[in-house]
Amino acid sequence: MKTATSKPGEIMHTVIPVMESFLTLQGEGYHTGRLAYFIRTGGCDVGCHWCDVKESWEAASHVGMTVDEILEAVKKVEADRIVITGGEPLMYDMDVLTMALKGGNKKTHLETSGVYPLSGEWDWICFSPKKFKEAKEEFYRKSDELKVVIYHESDLAWADRQADKMHGEALLFLQPEWSRKDRIMPLIVEHIKSNPRWRVSLQTHKYLDIP
Ligand code: SF4
Repeated sequence: MKTATSKPGEIMHTVIPVMESFLTLQGEGYHTGRLAYFIRTGGCDVGCHWCDVKESWEAASHVGMTVDEILEAVKKVEADRIVITGGEPLMYDMDVLTMALKGGNKKTHLETSGVYPLSGEWDWICFSPKKFKEAKEEFYRKSDELKVVIYHESDLAWADRQADKMHGEALLFLQPEWSRKDRIMPLIVEHIKSNPRWRVSLQTHKYLDIP
């Protein structure tokens, strides 16, 4: 793996571990169905026991890419939206990468658990806090979308407490954890009937087998 550098003048050579990148349709949340180029960074220390990308957790097991190399990959695809997901992307400073993407007229979208300080210039922030590690307060003020994954019935009350902390314009989504969706989905439906500020988010890419 290449080593990160922050020497002046070499910032475009700052290295971000990338587990995978691919052109697909956004499967979840507000932008469901939109074409997007996903860049999944390696590294996450939140430790969700139901995580569906546990292979992303170890940063050192993923190839380090410079910002220049990531931009070269982006140039090869026809997508106006770039979704930076993880892992936890904010383990890395996203300022240079996102400014370069926006300079190339790309929309920058972030998917984050919010446990690291916010960096980068974003057109859309999807904030998905987790019970397992406390999120930074700034995400409740700055995110466009709150997405809470529901695994246990008790997660619904926790989700309500997260929503209470969000600013008034934020969109609120409840999403069943995939392995328990058949059991959890009816609970989410009942919850939304009495709490209509929420919407449901489904992992449509998994239902439709879209990679
Ligand atoms: S925050 Fe995301 S990537 Fe990290 S463990 Fe949880 S679900 Fe997995």
